[in-house]
Amino acid sequence: MLTLENVHTHYGPIEALKGVSLNVQQGEIVTLIGANGAGKSTLLMTVCGDPRASAGTITWKGNDITKEETSKIMRTGLAVVPEGRRVFSAMTVEENLSMGGFFNKTTYDQRMAHVLELFPRLEERFKQRAGTMSGGEQQMLAIGRALMSEPELLILDEPSLGLAPLIINQIFDIIHKLRDEGMTIFLVEQNANQALRLADRGYVIENGKIVLEDTGANLLVNEDVRKAYLGG
Ligand code: ATP
Repeated sequence: MLTLENVHTHYGPIEALKGVSLNVQQGEIVTLIGANGAGKSTLLMTVCGDPRASAGTITWKGNDITKEETSKIMRTGLAVVPEGRRVFSAMTVEENLSMGGFFNKTTYDQRMAHVLELFPRLEERFKQRAGTMSGGEQQMLAIGRALMSEPELLILDEPSLGLAPLIINQIFDIIHKLRDEGMTIFLVEQNANQALRLADRGYVIENGKIVLEDTGANLLVNEDVRKAYLGG
């Protein structure tokens, strides 16, 4: 469904991605794990065309999108929840969710009902301003907003960052549920333990290069992964 072949990305003279190849197949949860600065966010954003790949090929649903405009890419069934859950603080939950796409009234009502069923907390806070909510609630809102576009591929950049363990479990439960509904998910995480438990397959990125690729289950017991990412 999504394929990266030998993708390089530069920030000026800095080469942040050094020939990355990976793929995400329909219906899978694929996770990308790696330390701070390894290139995880750069990889996600390169898929969206900002920054643009300086070499290599990105294919989405059979189309080469390597040189496509970001605004166009984002209208092809791909939704990204960026790191740091950027919600519109001054807007209510309802207004934030309504920003998730363009739709007619029937589609809007259906999708809203689905999101509120997944996140009952958002229904409780429907008229509350997003900026006054907890970090976990804002993360739910950021994911909910992405789901309003009913994406075929949901890309999540570190959804558990800075959240309490109980809330992290809730977020991972939701991701699980979305997969059961048939959604394809690409999950970037520093929380390697939970991400690998959830994922069908995983990739490990170090210093802009993929150094390991395997099933989530195999990576969880991999000696190098245990030492580097799972605390021994
Ligand atoms: P984190 O978990 O801290 O977000 P990451 O794995 O997502 O880390 P990236 O943010 O992709 O890593 O960064 C990869 C490399 O690219 C780092 O060396 C970083 O300093 C560099 N980098 C990222 N963004 C920029 C930028 N806008 N300009 C210059 N260098 C950048």
